[in-house]
Amino acid sequence: MYITAAAVMVLGGTLIFWLMRNRKQGKPTHSHSDIAGGAVTEASKTIIPRDHHPISRKHISDNALKVVNRLNSQGHEAYLVGGCVRDLYLDLRPKDFDVATSASPEEVRGLFRNSRLIGRRFKLVHVLFGREMIEVATFRANHENHHGQEKSHHSDSGRILRDNVYGTMEDDAMRRDFTVNALYYDSRDFTVVDFCRGEDDIRTGTLRLIGDPVTRYHEDPVRMIRAIRFAAKLDFTIAPETEQPIFELGHLLRDIPSARLFDEVLKLLQSGNGVRTFELLRQYQLFAPLFPATEHCLNEQGGSVQSLIIESLKSTDRRVRQNRPVTPAFLFAALLWAPMKALSRDLMEQGLPPVPALQQSAMTVIGNQCNHTAIPKRFSMMVRDIWDLQGRLERRQPKQIDILLEHPKFRAAYDFLILREQAGEDLSGAGKWWTEIQEVDEHGRVSMIRGLTAKGAPKSGNKRRRRRRKPRSEQQPGVSE
Ligand code: ATP
Ligand code: MG
Repeated sequence: MYITAAAVMVLGGTLIFWLMRNRKQGKPTHSHSDIAGGAVTEASKTIIPRDHHPISRKHISDNALKVVNRLNSQGHEAYLVGGCVRDLYLDLRPKDFDVATSASPEEVRGLFRNSRLIGRRFKLVHVLFGREMIEVATFRANHENHHGQEKSHHSDSGRILRDNVYGTMEDDAMRRDFTVNALYYDSRDFTVVDFCRGEDDIRTGTLRLIGDPVTRYHEDPVRMIRAIRFAAKLDFTIAPETEQPIFELGHLLRDIPSARLFDEVLKLLQSGNGVRTFELLRQYQLFAPLFPATEHCLNEQGGSVQSLIIESLKSTDRRVRQNRPVTPAFLFAALLWAPMKALSRDLMEQGLPPVPALQQSAMTVIGNQCNHTAIPKRFSMMVRDIWDLQGRLERRQPKQIDILLEHPKFRAAYDFLILREQAGEDLSGAGKWWTEIQEVDEHGRVSMIRGLTAKGAPKSGNKRRRRRRKPRSEQQPGVSE
């Protein structure tokens, strides 16, 4: 009797274990390679139990869990989804936590006092906990059977202009971009739900668009730059069927509103993997539609143009890794320096003096770039300041030294000067001179300025008392203080 009971228990245990393993392996109905050349075109649900995935609750934001638990307790489905699940899988710290739910945006809004409804093109709820914001999106579906413009709307090129068609969790998975971004974490039983075989792709380091790549890129061309961003950030390989259309479709980015592209450019180049991202953007011919004038200079002049951009991205990547602030102005100053210089040279050849030539060229180049990626005014003003100050820093007129050291954009302009030298420009030692003058005491400073005078520059008259600047180590290159 006892033996039978024990045998039943062992058998039962073995069966449960076997079932769990099979659920984990999901008994897939298809593999990537046998459907549409590798594309995932239909959902096949796999539940990955707690002991078969590396995600620990410890690494999940308490606030995100609060949101999910509250929604669950009110009878709604709710999961963590997207980049946070992907990053936790890869043992990276998620940038933010996104929630997907069966509740409508209005229902979510009603459950959280600290929330607000946002977006028209794509309605969402932001739940705010001090400085942390949890984004809650209602499960969405594809648009095929929806023609009502209120909810869903496409442009002539197939671009989705409005996306408020709600659906099931499977629908929601299938309309996400990459398989690795379509994993759902269920905090009720700690399982991960995978409809698109995203776990396999995480394991092999593959970025694979869900569905037919050409259609998906037409729906939203920004997915092409997202592919580059994730490939650089995660060091993943883009699957052949996902990468191939990119070479043909880069031009679609020209239809994307320039304000959205500005945000995307910052995510691309200011997330700590800027150098790699820039290289990939050029390799996939996506840099040209974003920065056409710079691309032209890169092709015409080559090395020196590229060096300045790479140096600025290296410095940005370093600062991001050190958790120090970066400003878009610095990046745009570097990206647009070559086209600005080329045009100002042309204007000088037409007889304009250097300063007005630079000013007019700066205005034109920034104005043209704004047709591709917007540049908010506060940043474009700073770009112009950084450029204006370059000539003055190079000339080092004694009367100007104190004024320049006190200039609110001195720090950013000085950093840019150093960058130009690092990129190989010969500035007759100006960078070293400006570095030194910030380090010496009052006496040393006066004698450095006299040194300039001795070289024939006009004698410095009224001496100003200068506020002591912070030592270099306390300052933030590229960010004026
Ligand atoms: P990260 O936040 O680390 O940059 P992420 O994958 O979380 O990466 P988000 O922009 O926060 O990116 O988007 C959250 C999720 O929303 C994505 O993981 C993806 O599932 C979905 N998503 C975002 N943008 C798109 C898009 N253009 N097309 C389809 N799905 C998208
Ligand atoms: Mg995210």
